[in-house]
Amino acid sequence: MRLLLDHFAHIATPKGQQAIVGTPQLLHWRDGAIMVEGDVIVDIGTSQEVHERCREPNQILDMSGKTAIPGLVDPHTHLVFAGNRADEFNRRLHGETYVSIAQGGGGIHATVRATRQADESDLRRRATRVLDQMLLHGVTTIEAKSGYGLDHDTELKQLNVMRDLSASHPVDMVQTFMGAHEVPKEYKGDAMAYVAFLNRDMLPEIKRRGDVRYVDIFCERGVFELEATRLHMQAAAEHGFGLRFHADELVHMGGAGLAADLGAVSADHVVYASKSDMKKMADAGVIATLLPGTSFFLRGNYADAKAFKEAGCAIALSTDFNPGSSHTCSQALMMALACMNMGMTFEETLVGTTLNAAAAIHEAHRVGSLEPGKLADIAILDVEDAVNLVYYWGINHVCHVMKAGSWAVWQRQIRRPE
Ligand SMILES: [Zn+2]
Repeated sequence: MRLLLDHFAHIATPKGQQAIVGTPQLLHWRDGAIMVEGDVIVDIGTSQEVHERCREPNQILDMSGKTAIPGLVDPHTHLVFAGNRADEFNRRLHGETYVSIAQGGGGIHATVRATRQADESDLRRRATRVLDQMLLHGVTTIEAKSGYGLDHDTELKQLNVMRDLSASHPVDMVQTFMGAHEVPKEYKGDAMAYVAFLNRDMLPEIKRRGDVRYVDIFCERGVFELEATRLHMQAAAEHGFGLRFHADELVHMGGAGLAADLGAVSADHVVYASKSDMKKMADAGVIATLLPGTSFFLRGNYADAKAFKEAGCAIALSTDFNPGSSHTCSQALMMALACMNMGMTFEETLVGTTLNAAAAIHEAHRVGSLEPGKLADIAILDVEDAVNLVYYWGINHVCHVMKAGSWAVWQRQIRRPE
């Protein structure tokens, strides 16, 4: 089956199989066309070029007035949890502090309690709703982490839900174990003992499952300090897991530098990373995954994207989808926040949510750009230029989504397999 998507008003995409460092050069076509065969792209260019180069397609769809970009990639999500913290959020708006809410049993521990109580089918139903929203917003590949169990059974329950969904839902998912998201109440004040439990009783079992690619940790003052982080992440590396870090989000502690020392694929948040740690990240090829939604929602500082660029780091962007600090599925909104509050250009944010986001989860050889040989993952926007993603902000412009050559969303509706 050869399908020609013809006469796009605009196509915009990065190119290549590796993260882009520095000022990106996007490819653009006006009156553009994409030829899809099976699940991959076989040609892209102006409509005239593609017609001249390609054998006749079986089907042609007219995309006049529309824009094609690569299916978006979200490389940092806390997808699976139970409970709802909308009320807690509203109490903050009325003047209560995060600390007083946490002392009253709120915050992450409220989500942990609810997730421990929920059964797998409930967690699956909730996570499916989120994945559907991501898909409707043009996202075709994500990373998802556990981390709301903080005990053996619940962490595995979260991973089971992810495994089910990655097999059944159109959105592709790479899975991360984040038992070290927080120190659970059972180990209060003793992060080292909890890390010893994770290393001894969890990492070997999770490795045997074969479906978990990464281990992540919340490396932060008063949670997992550098010594505990090093112990856990070295153990994870010895088991062959890739490493990801939540680092230097709230204060500078040196987590970004440790991520570089240990060869992590990505250090995330990194709001308070030092210039020397940025340089270490650049030298070690660690991607800076910046999460402007969290800064927005917590009214905090934004990461210094310009400094990361000057240091030579590749920059990816993510929603950090989670119930406490960034409850959004919209990568387009992250692009807008990054443009307006982090000094990034539109082109940099498009790379940050496509090719560089794919590289942050080792998927840039398959997805993240529109080019021959890559999966036909395409987000189609109901606008005549891709820059409207940011310029005409707060609107979901995605009208169709192709995932691996099949329509996953058509006219803003999810298409379920028959
Ligand atoms: Zn996170």
